[in-house]
Amino acid sequence: MNKEKELLAIAEEIGRCRTCKKWGTGKPVPGEGDPDAQIVFIGEAPGREEAKTGRPFIGRSGRLLRAMIRDAGLREEEVFITSPVKYLPLRGTPSRENVIHSRFHLGKQLAVIRPRVIVLLGSTACLALLDSKVQITAEHGTVIRKNNELYFITFHPAYALRFPKGKKGFAEDFRKLKLMLGQQIWRGQPPDYP
Ligand code: URA
Repeated sequence: MNKEKELLAIAEEIGRCRTCKKWGTGKPVPGEGDPDAQIVFIGEAPGREEAKTGRPFIGRSGRLLRAMIRDAGLREEEVFITSPVKYLPLRGTPSRENVIHSRFHLGKQLAVIRPRVIVLLGSTACLALLDSKVQITAEHGTVIRKNNELYFITFHPAYALRFPKGKKGFAEDFRKLKLMLGQQIWRGQPPDYP
């Protein structure tokens, strides 16, 4: 099976997952982008607009994220954008239980894509993939290597939209990311981080 078909099969699995549906509503939002993406952006959970369409990050936060991606010199079609939680949560921030369950699907997607860098947008993404509570205001802009993956920590775009501190940090982080991408980020061969 090629990567596109494998990702489609995972998306169908998400659409059938009763556990995911237990906590969520609307259309499933499995994520979208290049199955061969070298960089994957991970958010938190779909919002209302995403749940209506089944597409990730198309609301206000999404417009900011997509603009930053373009400013970093990337095309939206060459990255992959998703969230650990695949349905609009019934109540605000997704529960820990929901995140822990949903990362099972996310892990499968990442195992197919095998990106070089995984950008963690906010604390829910960090909980899902680093398995720890990360204070983004303290740790944003840092690179973590764990389980042979390279993670870059930054704010969730919704936070950047709400708080001036988040907006400034988010912009700084994307400048850093752009510099990193200008270098060679290869598996097993860490570059010099700025
Ligand atoms: N916020 C997220 O974390 N994910 C989306 O898909 C949309 C908004």
